Amino acid sequence: MDKRLLSIVVPCYNEMQVIPDFYREICLAAQTLSDRVECEFLFIDDGSTDMTLSILKQYAEEDARVRYVSFSRNFGKEAGIYAGLENAVGDYVVVMDADLQHPPMFLSEMLNPIMRGEYDSVAMRRVDRKGEGRLRSFFSRMFYKLNRKISGVDIPEGATDFRMMTRQMVDSVLALPEVNRFTKGIFAWVGYRTLWLPYHNVERPAGQSKWSFGSLVRYSLNGIVAFSTVPLALASILGAICCFAALFMVAWVIIKTLIWGDPVAGFPTLITVILFLGGIQLLMIGILGQYLSKAYMELKHRPMYLTKEKKVGTRKD
Ligand code: UDP
Ligand code: MG
Repeated sequence: MDKRLLSIVVPCYNEMQVIPDFYREICLAAQTLSDRVECEFLFIDDGSTDMTLSILKQYAEEDARVRYVSFSRNFGKEAGIYAGLENAVGDYVVVMDADLQHPPMFLSEMLNPIMRGEYDSVAMRRVDRKGEGRLRSFFSRMFYKLNRKISGVDIPEGATDFRMMTRQMVDSVLALPEVNRFTKGIFAWVGYRTLWLPYHNVERPAGQSKWSFGSLVRYSLNGIVAFSTVPLALASILGAICCFAALFMVAWVIIKTLIWGDPVAGFPTLITVILFLGGIQLLMIGILGQYLSKAYMELKHRPMYLTKEKKVGTRKD
């Protein structure tokens, strides 16, 4: 019987400093897997402005296992993952970062439960956040807690995008056509049997993280908006609470006037109430705007990415 094919999908954005190291490591990993699977390395060049693409092309010339898709500009990692899943031809697909923070040596351990048919997907979970700022870790933890509560998709804390899947699961993920992709949520949403393996965080050997604090905040908000409509219901809940409070206030004012008369007072209270209500209203309009803008972008049906050039394999079936 033919050996199964494992596609290794690697989104890269300006990673010329680490790609040679990554390539060396992934070749070694592929060797240790060679008794079980053949490998293809599918690099997604996410519109890099450095030498990333030319390095990839050179590898592709020398090594038939290396394939690549190059975007016309930077479309973001989520689009990179999508393009990778779309162009991968393997029976199994694993998504991993180019910066060696997802160590290739785990591939063997991830592959076994899938090949035995016990699981459809094996994903890695960081158990610590060594080398990451305290504040960043704190907000990250808060986000996963909140997300679990309001979205109903279970993303374990420390979940990474380092994940191996069967062809069936990949096809399910691809069947979700949304443009605003929160991949971690989508992986959880499609279901299937997932095994989470813990590992210790590894720091980047070279180059820099592309994530600033601001972009992480945007990513989290995106994740919540993509999978939950609870924030929309907040407006009604807060509105109802305010109505009840107002009724009590009216009753209280009438009783107070009847008993003690009506001295002119309460100006600060008035201002506070006006500010409070105004604030809530703006906040709720803002939340509405978030959903509206996402719906607007989805409605345009723009492609998730544009390919400038590529060299990919063909599917057997
Ligand atoms: N990446 C990408 N497009 C982007 C940003 C990042 O393809 O717009 C890739 C990057 O090259 C790396 C992976 O996504 O392979 C993870 O990026 P990074 O290391 O910056 O994220 P972190 O590990 O800090 O979460
Ligand atoms: Mg990284």
